[in-house]
Amino acid sequence: MSELSIERIMPNLNEKLYAAHFQALNEQKIAVQHCVDCGHSQWPAREICFQCHQTNLVWKDIADSGTVYTYSISYRAFHPWFKKHLPYGIFVVDLGDGIRMLGNCFDEDVGNIECGMKVKAVYRQASEGVTLLEWARVAD
Ligand SMILES: [Zn+2]
Repeated sequence: MSELSIERIMPNLNEKLYAAHFQALNEQKIAVQHCVDCGHSQWPAREICFQCHQTNLVWKDIADSGTVYTYSISYRAFHPWFKKHLPYGIFVVDLGDGIRMLGNCFDEDVGNIECGMKVKAVYRQASEGVTLLEWARVAD
């Protein structure tokens, strides 16, 4: 199998709980669940509110920029598709309102990555109708 024919591992797009999130990514937005009863915003998505345990949840768009809360640098590809991006950052980004979201950062010198650096969403079209979230540094 040549490297060009290796396909990226994709999320399960048939997972009903995350459909609204993936639809928002296709529209270049980040959406998370919001509880109508108590106002809590949450990620990852769940069937009930983490805060009040009610089920009256809707989706709302949130800021698509934030700061790196923590990170890891991958020097080995866990799947062959990732080899061309090595080394790369895996960030947990603080988006405010208690939301932290995981994503890769492929286009940064890993020696310059640090907690607190400002990043913005990169909406990477991974295949037809599938957009995945990545992160990129923004100037201070
Ligand atoms: Zn709630």
